[in-house]
Amino acid sequence: MNIPQSSSPRFVIIGGGFGGIALAKKLRDKEAQVVLLDKHNYHNFQPLLYQVSTGGLEPDSIAYPIRKVLQGYPNFYFRLANVLEIDTNKRKISTNIGDINYDYLVVATGSRTNYFGNKGIEAMGMAMKTIPQSLNLRSLILENFEQALLTDDLHARDALMNFVIVGGGPTGVELAGALAEIKKGILPKDYPDLDTRRAQINLVQAGDRLLPAMSEVASRKAERFLEELGVNVWKNIRVADYDGLHVTTDTDTSFNTATLVWAAGVSAVSIKGLDAKEFLCRGNRLKVNKFHQVEGFKEIFAIGDVAQMETEDFPNGHPMMAQPAIQQGRNLGDNLVRLLENKPMKPFVYKDKGSMATVGRNKAVVDLPKVKFQGVFAWFVWMFVHLYFLIGFRNRVVVFINWVYNYVRFDREARLIIRPFKKQNQVDRNKLMQD
Ligand SMILES: Cc1cc2nc3c(=O)[nH]c(=O)nc-3n(C[C@H](O)[C@H](O)[C@H](O)COP(=O)(O)OP(=O)(O)OC[C@H]3O[C@@H](n4cnc5c(N)ncnc54)[C@H](O)[C@@H]3O)c2cc1C
Repeated sequence: MNIPQSSSPRFVIIGGGFGGIALAKKLRDKEAQVVLLDKHNYHNFQPLLYQVSTGGLEPDSIAYPIRKVLQGYPNFYFRLANVLEIDTNKRKISTNIGDINYDYLVVATGSRTNYFGNKGIEAMGMAMKTIPQSLNLRSLILENFEQALLTDDLHARDALMNFVIVGGGPTGVELAGALAEIKKGILPKDYPDLDTRRAQINLVQAGDRLLPAMSEVASRKAERFLEELGVNVWKNIRVADYDGLHVTTDTDTSFNTATLVWAAGVSAVSIKGLDAKEFLCRGNRLKVNKFHQVEGFKEIFAIGDVAQMETEDFPNGHPMMAQPAIQQGRNLGDNLVRLLENKPMKPFVYKDKGSMATVGRNKAVVDLPKVKFQGVFAWFVWMFVHLYFLIGFRNRVVVFINWVYNYVRFDREARLIIRPFKKQNQVDRNKLMQD
């Protein structure tokens, strides 16, 4: 990897997400060599992916070059590398660009979409976890409307204009709200010769309420906001399968759609060598102690989505969200410095700052530890918080200008098919529709 040997201990961080970046920032100017490995050369601000999928933002306004974060950091090295395996005995990491040894290792690899073993949904459904996936979804949505214009078969046209979003967490709720706004504000203008009123946005939730991790009042309000926007909210329904056109469920309800978005689960990204049962908890997360050390190791740490720290308040680990990842990254950074100074490490204590979700224009729900509110003010709070946590001044300015523009003009101008989408193993939809 062409990284010089150093007399200082070498910390290797795998993953430049929320946790990895927060940690790296803490290690600036410290007596250590820091190597950050990521398979992307950018940090992905996942909470705004749905806006890329729905043409509200360009992808480069939510991505930030990792090298720029580390600019001017002495003794820091970034390598664009896909980590394949960890040899914990030899303290060696194997990647697609070569091997590297570590003195201390931090795993911050985040999570990936979990289809719970359903091959049909994995093959035919759309995920929204990465920027390329969001661009695929953007293209597919637009391609469907272009195709709908060309068919006289009403059944086929409806399927092309129908959407099924599986999962009533923040991702599902936010995406459903954005699609409903497109249906109302943009489709009639863009496709005047198509009856876009027939387009249906279906949000399917297995549980009995949306946003189950938030308060009851937030759930109720979010559902009402979505219904006001014309979204069909289906609760207590579990999607069973999808063949590219037909969605079956565990009830009599079924859907015809050319677009199923799977937002119903994630599991941690584990790496070979650290993926034995003894290290893993539910959802593939690595079991860590209160100092972020992976069970059985003093020199291997894990933070963020990939780490499960079981505490009295969080018996199943902290929520897989940005705040725990950032706070864990910062705490581990402080602890690694203390380790260098031969001081005892401090246990991690999570400060729950609350959670929020937006449903659409002037519509959001916010649960703070002491107060809960919904509506216009919540929407402004949601925007402010997301701008604050976006990495990069340019990104903040661009996103802010886009939001103001979209708000004033009722528009989303990034509705572009830059890279047409074609799933490798996609069924021939025309054929399916004739069956
Ligand atoms: C659509 C969506 C919306 C969300 N909305 C919210 C929200 O509103 N609020 C909120 O708090 N949270 C939200 N989240 C969750 C939040 O984004 C995650 O909890 C957070 O990103 C976790 O941070 P992390 O550092 O653990 O992992 P990540 O930020 O996912 O970073 C992991 C990094 O590891 C890298 N990596 C993985 N495997 C390898 C490998 N083998 N080799 C090299 N590099 C590797 C990846 O490229 C990535 O850069 C959302 C997530 C999604 C998908």
